[in-house]
Amino acid sequence: MPTLISNLENARAQCNGLSPTKLRMIDSHAHLDFPEFDDDRQHLFDEMKHAGIETAIIPGVSPEHWDKQIAVARQFSCPYALGIHPWYCQSDSITLFNDLKGTISRCSHDENLVAIGECGLDKLRKSNWQAQLVQFERQLELAKELELPIILHVVKAHNEMLTLLKHYGLPKGGVIHGFYGGVELANEYIRLGYKLGIGGLILNDRAVKLKKCIASISLNSILIETDSPSMAPANSAETRNTPLVLHSIVKEIANLQKKTSVLISEHAFLNTMQLFDL
Ligand SMILES: [Zn+2]
Repeated sequence: MPTLISNLENARAQCNGLSPTKLRMIDSHAHLDFPEFDDDRQHLFDEMKHAGIETAIIPGVSPEHWDKQIAVARQFSCPYALGIHPWYCQSDSITLFNDLKGTISRCSHDENLVAIGECGLDKLRKSNWQAQLVQFERQLELAKELELPIILHVVKAHNEMLTLLKHYGLPKGGVIHGFYGGVELANEYIRLGYKLGIGGLILNDRAVKLKKCIASISLNSILIETDSPSMAPANSAETRNTPLVLHSIVKEIANLQKKTSVLISEHAFLNTMQLFDL
């Protein structure tokens, strides 16, 4: 009785405010301004819409990227963040930070500017570690002053990160993007009021610790993300990642949590709306 079944599904979906075939999703971290999308950006946004991916938050990276990033965000009505990524902290120069402050103040009337970032600490880049620390603390101070959430990139520097987050006590918190740790670390961030951005790493069969962590953490603390165009799934022929991978990420979180994809996507959607005040 396919008609009855689909009628029931439609009714249930309407009760939940959802279309029957689509999950409601936001990619909380995707660099859709990067040149990898120059040839087919419009087509990708059309495909995302078709797949229930309502929008993507575009994080900032460096002064060289901001103008195009802002233009793409405006063209496609995407929320965005402005910040200096740790890889781009070439020096601790105040000029670099003042450039960020100037760009933010020029966009201060723009309701799609929703966060500071991405910024943070990456110990795999030892050559500019001191500059990373200086520029990151300035951005923490700025997020506090402007009362904006922060999008954090943290690689092999969780102790330093936790110490700084405790010290600055940001009113709006933020998200640890591309989280890859275990349950204890996850709960330390959650206790400080931070969300965890869960991305394509969870699709990797070898990510045993991360899978175990995601199976047990609170759904009030997760966001979903792809970090496109990076992080193309290991089993894919594509070298470029896109927000369309979100479906697989939601499915895997649902599988680990033993819940439905609808429930997972709704939690992640509402958490994203709430954190970035969308
Ligand atoms: Zn990123």
